Amino acid sequence: MKNINLIYPELQTAQKIVITMHQKPDGDAMGSTLGLYHFLIQFGHEVNVISPTNWADFLKWMPGCTTVLDYEKDVKKSDVLIENADWIFCLDFNTLSRTKNMESALLKTKATRILIDHHQQPQTEVFGFGVSDTTKSSTAEMVYDFIMNSGFEDKINNEVAQCLYAGVMTDTGSFRFPSTSADVHSMISNLKTKGLNHSMIHEALYDNFSENRLRFIGNTLLNRMEVIYEYNTALIYITQDDLIKYNIKTGDTEGLVNYPLSIEGIKLAAIFIDRGEERKCSFRSKGNFDVNTFARTYFNGGGHFNAAGGQSYDPLEMVVSTFKQVIKNYKNELSTYQF
Ligand code: 5GP
Ligand code: MN
Repeated sequence: MKNINLIYPELQTAQKIVITMHQKPDGDAMGSTLGLYHFLIQFGHEVNVISPTNWADFLKWMPGCTTVLDYEKDVKKSDVLIENADWIFCLDFNTLSRTKNMESALLKTKATRILIDHHQQPQTEVFGFGVSDTTKSSTAEMVYDFIMNSGFEDKINNEVAQCLYAGVMTDTGSFRFPSTSADVHSMISNLKTKGLNHSMIHEALYDNFSENRLRFIGNTLLNRMEVIYEYNTALIYITQDDLIKYNIKTGDTEGLVNYPLSIEGIKLAAIFIDRGEERKCSFRSKGNFDVNTFARTYFNGGGHFNAAGGQSYDPLEMVVSTFKQVIKNYKNELSTYQF
């Protein structure tokens, strides 16, 4: 994988470009891809954003979101775009398997694959160019750096700014995680100087949910959460019946895993959601417990040091009991709590 700066000389030559992200895109995946989209279309490129799967309703306010293709709904059209592209930007994921059913089309194409990502252990051999930096708060911050280093800062219009702000804000837990560097605050300061209305974005993302989602959270915290004080650990499990009963859609469960971490002393939080075709797992930690390695070792996943995910094809009860078993291997690390 060569340095992404090497593509700058070709930035002004019109090209066919596809931008994609990880399946079930979150705020950073959608914000970084659409931010890059609004930057690139200003050069006259033909740009298409393709998501491997559907996405949450709370992302739909983002400028350009209605033009995003859902690969699972539009396989033929997407395959043609991927096949005929000159460049394919791959944002906010480290391995092509994170694009689920799109993986084979991405491997087959003769297009140059370009990575912009902040996850650990990227599959560098499949990318022609790219930048991977695990110290970065978000992929949106990296897209901002890419634009600033290109010499085209003047192309950061309101659409670019809104999308990138949403990406950085969601991936930093509203600027509270340790990854929120001075550079992040400088970036936001610059976007504000350019006229960004940040409170509108917080409202669009966090004050726009359905009543049933709030009742679902109430039920989950009351009836589906277990606290294991011996290991400073808390877990939540969600059954398929819960998802049906409260009409829970993609994205409605996002952020739930953070609730148990707000309990004093809790160092590791986990959520297991029975999505039918798989059991989705999410892990969050405070301090020095590495959930990236934990998710890789036991749950087919990965991510970052303090936030990682994975999946399992075992029944929900088995996944929960596996989790309760394997945390025993970390008794020393978990039972002492240090800030
Ligand atoms: P979440 O728990 O919110 O789905 O994901 C937390 C972090 O871990 C995100 O950065 C996400 O991209 C990453 N992640 C989630 N699931 C997986 C997975 O199955 N494999 C890898 N490598 N990373 C994941
Ligand atoms: Mn991210």
